Amino acid sequence: MPSPYVIAIDPGHGGSPTSDPTQLWDPGVVVGSIMEKDITLDLALRLRTLLQRERVKVVLTRSSDQYVEISERWNRAHAVGARMFVSLHVNAYDGDSTINGLAIFYPKPDSFSFAQAIDAGLAQTLKRFQIADDGVAIKPELWVRTDVPTVTVEPAYLTNPRERGLLLQDDFRDAIAMGVFQGMLAADPEIEETKVQLAHTEAAATAQRLAAESASADAARTATATRWGLIIGGLAVLFVVMRAAIRRQSRLPQPPAYRRRTYRRRRSVSRRY
Ligand SMILES: [Zn+2]
Repeated sequence: MPSPYVIAIDPGHGGSPTSDPTQLWDPGVVVGSIMEKDITLDLALRLRTLLQRERVKVVLTRSSDQYVEISERWNRAHAVGARMFVSLHVNAYDGDSTINGLAIFYPKPDSFSFAQAIDAGLAQTLKRFQIADDGVAIKPELWVRTDVPTVTVEPAYLTNPRERGLLLQDDFRDAIAMGVFQGMLAADPEIEETKVQLAHTEAAATAQRLAAESASADAARTATATRWGLIIGGLAVLFVVMRAAIRRQSRLPQPPAYRRRTYRRRRSVSRRY
């Protein structure tokens, strides 16, 4: 079995305040009751669904409202051998709510072409929402330990009223997930190749299993036929033997037929002299 392609998705921020004051928590950008941490987790789950349909093994650095350190996020991705790392966020600009648009950040030059692919995918799917594409930019302080193609995705601004409205919509969130997904497929054809290989291997295994099942069904049929053959053969032998026995019996000398004796009636005469 070929091993699946592994991708790490990092829903930015996470965690809620608890009774324990030492417990860290990080909602990300907050506007009213809207928190970045909730949007990023939802986007991650939508993206995971798309990738799993392509038989990609997806690891989430968090799958619930949980505080996770940056280094721990990377460790979780690295531990499963992720070949891409995508950190999902939404942007904010304090003091100017008109600032808007899509931006992709990458930590090192070797992630540049991956960033371009993700940006192109998102620019394509967000076009119908009139999201301006600000392109890619290097941010060396992000994901310093990464050794696989890595980006931080900022699809829109939570501080911009129009984009905030979009970020609350299902179809816009689906479009973000789809844009990142298509960027990933474009960045590495091996995702699709692995899917095809997995499908072929599974089809071959299924064909083998069906052949084995049909062979064992044949064997069962043969066994049943053999059993019936033995039963019918046994009955035939029994019949022949019994018929022979009956015939032998009928050839035995028969006692002479009982001859009915006729008795002459004697006259009982009393002779009197
Ligand atoms: Zn963020």
